[in-house]
Amino acid sequence: MDELRIDGSQGEGGGQILRTSLSLSMTTGRPFRIERIRAQREKPGLMRQHLAAVYAARDVCRAEVEGAELASGTLRFEPRAVRPGSYHFAVGTAGSACLVFQTVLPALLTAPEPSHLTFEGGTHNPHAPPFEFLERVFLPLLSRMGPRVTARLDRHGFVPAGGGRFGVDVASCKKLQPLQLLDTGAVRARSARSVICKLPAHIAERELTIVRECLGWSEEECRIEAVDAQSPGNVLLLEVTRDPTGELVAGFGERGVPAEKVAEVAVRRLLAYLEARVPVGVHLADQLLLPMALAGEGAFHTLPLSAHARTNVAVIEAFGIARFVIEERGRGVVINVRSA
Ligand code: ATP
Repeated sequence: MDELRIDGSQGEGGGQILRTSLSLSMTTGRPFRIERIRAQREKPGLMRQHLAAVYAARDVCRAEVEGAELASGTLRFEPRAVRPGSYHFAVGTAGSACLVFQTVLPALLTAPEPSHLTFEGGTHNPHAPPFEFLERVFLPLLSRMGPRVTARLDRHGFVPAGGGRFGVDVASCKKLQPLQLLDTGAVRARSARSVICKLPAHIAERELTIVRECLGWSEEECRIEAVDAQSPGNVLLLEVTRDPTGELVAGFGERGVPAEKVAEVAVRRLLAYLEARVPVGVHLADQLLLPMALAGEGAFHTLPLSAHARTNVAVIEAFGIARFVIEERGRGVVINVRSA
């Protein structure tokens, strides 16, 4: 297959262009060369977390790789056949291990054998899916497409120390089945969890007070989860369960930011999702594009696409596996996947 050229500065010009290219190169067998990697980021080029994704992708398909160095702006990746099995991948910093996982997962979903994966690094990073989002929102939907993917968190990993760990079992299938996520059912369950490590308990209590005040959730729906990790950390997770899919939003505790503000950010995110009356939230939308494209058909109703999602659409279409037809509906858009 001829080599595909990818411009890493297109659209929002971040690391997702690289990760999506790696995933699709692994699944299609098509080599690619990416230039101007993360050109629109403050520190462009490959950072530790992106390198970890490149190494993980390389190991799973015994790829030939050029340019895999810290700060490199160019990378060439030539995959061989995907080899399912047992793998252990460590980011080596607090960089998001969840993003490394999402890079290698697509190729393993339809591999001939199951896989057992262990990831080490950050599990709860701002600007990345927290572990619980993968476990409770993303993976259940993938499992409805045919494969069975289950994940368990062994240890939390917060910035700056990282040191988190989770395991994933992938029972693969022959071909991904399409999903239709167009309507929303009533909320069946709600839960607020303030996850806290090596920080005063009042931080979690103040966050949950805001949740009760702003959302009217009960004492029973709100809980504090004290955990152990290498560095202190706090994240507030708000989850709603409904058909055909729910949502889990996060607010990350930060030094100098009052607990009330952290909770208000998470509450605002959840209200924006609920008020839009769409099944698929803003982050799930950009993460579903790739598996849906691999299925070759399907549709979902979501909020107006983020720059991140639009860039992902462009990269997926460049690999020629599917195209997306986007129509406005209500306060959001419906994404229809068509075979290329
Ligand atoms: P970088 O260039 O630094 O790697 P990036 O462009 O790759 O950045 P982001 O745009 O920050 O990365 O997004 C990374 C991914 O994490 C996206 O798929 C996004 O949907 C997902 N994500 C970010 N925050 C959340 C969240 N709170 N819940 C679920 N997913 C999230």
